[in-house]
Amino acid sequence: MPKNRTPLQELASAIERQLPPSQAERSRLWMEMAANHLEQPGSLIDEICAYMEQFIEASGYPAGPTWALVIKGWKKLKHGENEAARQLLQQAYETFEEWHDLKGQTRALNGIGVINLYNNLFDHALEVLMRARQLAVSIGWAEMTGVIDSNMGLVYLKLNQPAEAARCLEAAKASPEIAPLNLTVIDSHLATAWAELGREQDAEKLLLDTLAYCQAKGFDISGIDARGRYGRLLRRTGRHQDAMVAFDAALLAARSLDNKRLIVDYGIELGISQTETGQLEAAATSLSEACALADSQNLPAEKSRALQALATVHQRSGAWQLAWQAEHEAAELAARAFNEKVSGQAASAGAERAASESAASKVQMRQLSLIAEIGREIAGAMDLESIGRLLYKNISSLMPADGFGLALFLPRTNSLDFAFFIEDDAVIPPFTLSSNAGNSLAAYCVRTGQDLRIGDIHGEYKKYVTDIQSSKPGADPVRAILYCPVRHKDAISAIITVQSHRAGAYEQHHLEILRAVCSYVAVALENARLFAEIKTVAGTDPLTGALNRRRFMEIFTAEADRVRRYGSDLSFVIFDLDFFKKVNDGHGHAAGDLVLKAAADRGAKALRSTDIIARYGGEEFVLLLPNTGVDGAMIVAERIRQSFCDNPVILPNGAAIAFSASFGLTGFCPADSFDSMAGRADKALYFSKDTGRNKVAKERCPSDGALDGLGRRRI
Ligand code: GH3
Ligand code: MG
Ligand code: MG
Repeated sequence: MPKNRTPLQELASAIERQLPPSQAERSRLWMEMAANHLEQPGSLIDEICAYMEQFIEASGYPAGPTWALVIKGWKKLKHGENEAARQLLQQAYETFEEWHDLKGQTRALNGIGVINLYNNLFDHALEVLMRARQLAVSIGWAEMTGVIDSNMGLVYLKLNQPAEAARCLEAAKASPEIAPLNLTVIDSHLATAWAELGREQDAEKLLLDTLAYCQAKGFDISGIDARGRYGRLLRRTGRHQDAMVAFDAALLAARSLDNKRLIVDYGIELGISQTETGQLEAAATSLSEACALADSQNLPAEKSRALQALATVHQRSGAWQLAWQAEHEAAELAARAFNEKVSGQAASAGAERAASESAASKVQMRQLSLIAEIGREIAGAMDLESIGRLLYKNISSLMPADGFGLALFLPRTNSLDFAFFIEDDAVIPPFTLSSNAGNSLAAYCVRTGQDLRIGDIHGEYKKYVTDIQSSKPGADPVRAILYCPVRHKDAISAIITVQSHRAGAYEQHHLEILRAVCSYVAVALENARLFAEIKTVAGTDPLTGALNRRRFMEIFTAEADRVRRYGSDLSFVIFDLDFFKKVNDGHGHAAGDLVLKAAADRGAKALRSTDIIARYGGEEFVLLLPNTGVDGAMIVAERIRQSFCDNPVILPNGAAIAFSASFGLTGFCPADSFDSMAGRADKALYFSKDTGRNKVAKERCPSDGALDGLGRRRI
């Protein structure tokens, strides 16, 4: 076909070639062709609509205004006005039904199915699309059957059912008269389904073919989509460098079309790949640009994704504060975007089902708005247990929940850490499962990334029964179960389960609610993780890796409280390197730093896991030894002292620096504050210094009688 004609002109000439007999028949064909065209990606909706509106007036085709509703509905859908689109298509469907116009009904139902898909009401989407498909088959409309099959394929992909998706998409592909542009969409999704099924080589070949086909046909947007999918496939198989090239090309193509949304999308993908290949500066630039564009285009979900990716860049460059800020802003935006989407869903679901299920729809609308509240609430929780508790509290108001669990997935150890699990109001102590466990549904959920909705565990999934029942002998057995993976940046970070004693307790919409909740959980977990990390970084001395003074004092306060309450030993040791000024003066400051690091390392090595070491000041360190009396502390301090003078520090230039330290220690007495305890340890340290250095001295509690040492205070 000649390339210099606009798609609208091509459409017009395609219709004229059919030489319709009458004006009304001509109009009907126009409508149908236009409708066909509208369901394709990247169409000229606005132009066609403007053209059609004046055309319909003059045509005299009686069904024209109804077809116009379909076309306007698609236009609204493409512009994200899902509810308005649904109303128009519903109205069209009812009119077509009155007229027994099966073609019209089929087309309107297909549209409604797609709207449900966009609204994440997948069960409903399938139901409507199946009805549309039956109609299409009954009138022998092969092309439309193919379109519906392909839409059903997309729904199954969303439902994480790649085998079903591939079946539908393959049927769509095989159907005759499928429009070339639709074929590219089908192929791209089929490749995604194949990749999910582990057929990565087939997927790759199909995407490259699709890309070449799009280029040959001039299908720009589908071409960009195929390139993007190709990039994701490369990333998925670890080929980050190649993925970067693919995303770069997709971004370039998006720029040449000036398609802002795609520029944002591929700017983010490129940034992520640049991060993966260690090009942090380039990544920061790509992501900041994507972020600014998303902001100016009012795309909060995209901006949130860009910020998330930017947070990773900051993290990798060690800019914790920036990472923390970006992550926080991303979480807030995600919540905002999600709320907007959820209220859209609530309105759509509510309106659609109102006639037949008004009570049910009210419940659902309430549920959907509650999800947004859950999101807000858990975003503020900073540890796993509070996240788990809040989730349990809220989820049990939305669905039956005799059991509830939140488990973190740790890919490094292939384990699932159940940080919070509650059954019949009893909290089960944290436990860990291997994600390779063959008899665990949780492990299955992590391995496959699939949601699970099981009506009765004692039926089909009997082999998992022991695992589920084990936690509370004698209790009613759990029968119905939901499992949902929590995804963060394309990887599974956790799973959530809700369980009930009643068989068949969960409907598909319960699973959808849980899925919606999971997107918040991902953000909350990431916040909690970053918070913990930042706390560690903020509490650590950067030179030696030991804790810093502030963190030491926090831990001291907690330990002192514990000892006051439960009574047990607690010792405090302070040591100061001897003549350290001479090390700096003789070997330089860098050598001095190495000695400080060696002192901290050797000190840490001599400690038990519950003991802590902190850098207290320049060349002074402190130890806190829980459950250790003064005599035990003498032994520990002596061991560390010995480890210093036994082995010199060897500098990179081969020079050996011998060093030693003087120690002072004391035990906890009930009236102690930090100052009083540190003061006594310091007094003992001075005693060591003043009596020859490189030795350990202790100081008793005042109540124990006479004081050792010289009684000088420095703290
Ligand atoms: P004494 O045995 O009496 O403790 O003698 P000293 O030389 O160790 O004590 P003084 O307090 O006179 O000197 C401590 C030195 O520790 C001075 C300071 O420059 C050095 N210092 C403090 N912090 C650091 C650091 O982070 N790196 C290095 N290299 N030196 C440090
Ligand atoms: Mg010193
Ligand atoms: Mg000193």
